[in-house]
Amino acid sequence: MNNNLDLLIQLGDIDYRINEINELKGDLPEKVESQKKLIVQLNSENETNEIKLTETEHELTENQYALDDTNAKLKKYKKQLYLVTTNKEYDALLTEIDHSKELLNNTQAKYDEMKSLQETLSSSLKNNKIILEETSSSLTECETELNEALKDSEDEFKSLEKKRSVLEKKIDARFLSLYNRMKRGRRGMGIISVHKNACGSCYNIMPPQTIIEIRKSEKIITCHTCGIILFWENED
Ligand SMILES: [Zn+2]
Repeated sequence: MNNNLDLLIQLGDIDYRINEINELKGDLPEKVESQKKLIVQLNSENETNEIKLTETEHELTENQYALDDTNAKLKKYKKQLYLVTTNKEYDALLTEIDHSKELLNNTQAKYDEMKSLQETLSSSLKNNKIILEETSSSLTECETELNEALKDSEDEFKSLEKKRSVLEKKIDARFLSLYNRMKRGRRGMGIISVHKNACGSCYNIMPPQTIIEIRKSEKIITCHTCGIILFWENED
């Protein structure tokens, strides 16, 4: 038998078993991965929002000071209106009052804007914290479930992976890459036996000459239709 073919058949057996073990995991690895990602994303969002919130609260305090200050000035100017003796002084005070009123309006608008930003940031932080708690507890559940599913097959899985990497080094690079390319496909296999003169993967019937060559096991033969590597499995 062709040495590469022999090694590829062994690799196929290992991968078949690895696939079986992976099926036990179901969608748990993807769930764990996506929950971990979500936690990182939410934490980073919270960090940014907390900084923004501190800045916003600082600005709110400053705007409040400015509002108090302008209000006090306005009060003072209005009192002074009764005390002035000349028209010139009166006009000057009116200008100050107009100026203060304008300032008051602008500052109030800024204050309102900051206040609404503060509310948005606070509620986003609060929501994120709730989602974070839920995701963290769901992550723990998934990890426990995953560990439970793999408990019995973990040692076997590790030993299969070890055997696999030893085998891979012995196989010609071009055959290995062909095998791996097929394995990444829909059915997760790189090599399959011929069954009733048909490809075991796509069920395409082989020409008799191809069957003879596959039976000889002297070289690597792939399915003309799906590209998978084919071998002959003795029925006995
Ligand atoms: Zn095929």
